[in-house]
Amino acid sequence: MNSDHLNESFEQLKQVIDSKKRFIISSHINPDGDSIGSEIAFYNLLKNLGKDVLVINSSMTPDNCLFLEGANEILEYPQLRADEIEFIKKTDVLVLLDVSEYKRVGLPSKILEPKSLFTVCIDHHILSHPSMNLSIIKEDACATGEIIFKFMKYAGCKITMNIAEAIYVSILTDTGSFQYSNTTAESHLIAAELLSMGINHSYIYEKYYCNQPMKKAKLFISVISTLQTECDGKIAWMKMTKDMLALTDTRTEDSEGIINFAMNIKGVRVILFFKELTDERIKVSLRSRKKFNVRNVAASFGGGGHNNASGILLKGILDEVIQKILKRVEEELKKQECS
Ligand code: 5GP
Ligand code: MN
Repeated sequence: MNSDHLNESFEQLKQVIDSKKRFIISSHINPDGDSIGSEIAFYNLLKNLGKDVLVINSSMTPDNCLFLEGANEILEYPQLRADEIEFIKKTDVLVLLDVSEYKRVGLPSKILEPKSLFTVCIDHHILSHPSMNLSIIKEDACATGEIIFKFMKYAGCKITMNIAEAIYVSILTDTGSFQYSNTTAESHLIAAELLSMGINHSYIYEKYYCNQPMKKAKLFISVISTLQTECDGKIAWMKMTKDMLALTDTRTEDSEGIINFAMNIKGVRVILFFKELTDERIKVSLRSRKKFNVRNVAASFGGGGHNNASGILLKGILDEVIQKILKRVEEELKKQECS
């Protein structure tokens, strides 16, 4: 999306916000720092304009996001009250953040698909067939929070301290603390602007990253003990079983961050993390360094994401899925090395 097109979309979004009253905001299953940060920023933006807003996700807000002001207002779908269900029926606009595919939202179709609903998505994932009424997809944005920041500037919205903190969390977490290849001058410029507004970056870092329970450290130990490499150390992979979660009394979300350990190994180009979920499905996180494109691999198994960070959710038996995906990555590595 070039800047003219982006401004056109921002103008349309501004008109939608000005003309509508009731909004639902949602994001993807197992929300991360960018989803929650974006939701809180957008929630406050709408609230400050006097709108009626609910934020509804299909999964719980991670504990390390709860320090953000407004995080406690985020609802988890299965636990909605009767008046909240009533609100859904009368909603004018659904805003999806950090996701642009309905199946990744994980909410029932009665929320997502009423014909009367105006649907908006704001995202930085590549999508070939957007199906919303208004799709604002900026693939080169480091985080969805970056696009929201730009929209707020465009629309002249006041960036209050809770919005600034939420946007900082979006950018901080989706750039891996400003280290991944999606980090740009723009990411740093926005961060600088947020700092000059008065956010406390070390407080935010501490709250998000340095508040891990001991049981999470135990889960890390179990998972990292499965680390193996293939292809002369170019592929590193790890697995997490349901037993590991049960033994350490943790949940899948507690595995966030483990993959980074394997990314730091010298010579590794592709990192795969296979997670056995409680419902017979397997979640695969893929990461790569430099040019190797994991999104293509993920897409061939029905997943998606970015060139250097993607994910797949599929049914299957853990060890069979591992073999199948490893084989595909090995083939792809050989192909790319020969080209
Ligand atoms: P993570 O491994 O951290 O869950 O996800 C890495 C990236 O891949 C994120 O940008 C995320 O949005 C995307 N992603 C993760 N899982 C899926 C999936 O099942 N389908 C698609 N299309 N994208 C995914
Ligand atoms: Mn994101």
